[in-house]
Amino acid sequence: MELYVHIPFCEKKCAYCDFLSAPANEETQRRYVGALLREIRFYGEQFERPRLDSVYIGGGTPSLLKKEYMELILKQIQISFAVVYGAEVTMECNPGTANREKLTSYQKSGINRLSIGLQSVYDYELQLLGRIHNFRDFLHTYEMARQTGFQNINVDLMSALPHQTVEKFTAGLERVARLKPEHISVYSLMIEEGTPFYESYAEDARRRAAGGIPMQLPSEETELEIGRQTAEILASFGYEHYEVSNYARPGCASRHNIGYWRREPYLGVGLGAASLLRRSDVRYSNTTELEKYIRTCENIKLLQKEVSLTRRKKQMLPYTNLHAVAEYVSRRAQIEEFMFLGLRMTEGVTRRSFKEQFDVEIEAVYPEALHTLSEQGLLEMRAGIIKLTERGMELSNYVLANFLLDTDG
Ligand code: SF4
Repeated sequence: MELYVHIPFCEKKCAYCDFLSAPANEETQRRYVGALLREIRFYGEQFERPRLDSVYIGGGTPSLLKKEYMELILKQIQISFAVVYGAEVTMECNPGTANREKLTSYQKSGINRLSIGLQSVYDYELQLLGRIHNFRDFLHTYEMARQTGFQNINVDLMSALPHQTVEKFTAGLERVARLKPEHISVYSLMIEEGTPFYESYAEDARRRAAGGIPMQLPSEETELEIGRQTAEILASFGYEHYEVSNYARPGCASRHNIGYWRREPYLGVGLGAASLLRRSDVRYSNTTELEKYIRTCENIKLLQKEVSLTRRKKQMLPYTNLHAVAEYVSRRAQIEEFMFLGLRMTEGVTRRSFKEQFDVEIEAVYPEALHTLSEQGLLEMRAGIIKLTERGMELSNYVLANFLLDTDG
């Protein structure tokens, strides 16, 4: 099993961010960590100290917490779970929030992979995004992380920023690649409702989606060209493109993320954290209300509710008073997720694993999509493996939309 730990605090909200995170004072952080420790302990007891293959501490900004709090969280995980030898333990870290002391303490506590949210090498872009750091802060954090012994570092970058050109983006990407992090993620900016960016760019995003030329955001062609050149440049620096948005040096792909894309079971703890449990067919989500989360953790209870599997079949589903959502994932949704997540990886999906999981041949579920996308040169089917071609990766949104199912399959 994999464990995700959510730390919902940030120094200040970025202009594009719709994640579950907000600034909080020291007292709230202290109470939250106390609640989190109780939740971790609860699951350790419920599942009788289950085996963990990876841990991912994300947010928010986990590196904002006092180092003593992070030490307590990691200690509780070690007590409540059987973390396997060599497990990948990642923590997200934002430049400007971690000092040498904190990084040394993370190392000692067992964190062996750091994911640094850089987003851009240009200070004017960082300002536009509302980030709290500049590029120098990042370089400082990166160097300190190396000096304190981190041998597995991811750097997050964002593309499709307002006024971004292919040349500017690729020059920044090369600058990062020259630092030789083990892993680089490049995600496109999404304009999310409810954010300051939505106010400024929603009209532009709509215009682009309708095939028009946006005024401030890069055009679709520019985005495609950024994607193509990112893959080329990172290949020339020795990175493997192992997922639509992720690149790694050989042997450094994120095991935690691969588990997620393969729909392996994971447990999420913390505010709003989601879990996929049992045979990856039951999904839970914790409450997103901070005060409720903290109060409920003082007395976590196991409950039962009757849910419908089909129109006639019902089953009792265990859940806790922390959960806002507890539901069976329909067979149709499981199949769609299997395809969406699996095809995002360059290794693709196998006919065999599809048959094993769903007891039906993949061709019987997707006869048209497989045929048409192969004809269009977007999908490759060979030796029982189905994967996106290079062109298919570039147009992944279009390709994956073909795997939506109309009816319960
Ligand atoms: S640091 Fe990350 S989680 Fe926090 S506000 Fe910025 S984008 Fe959101």
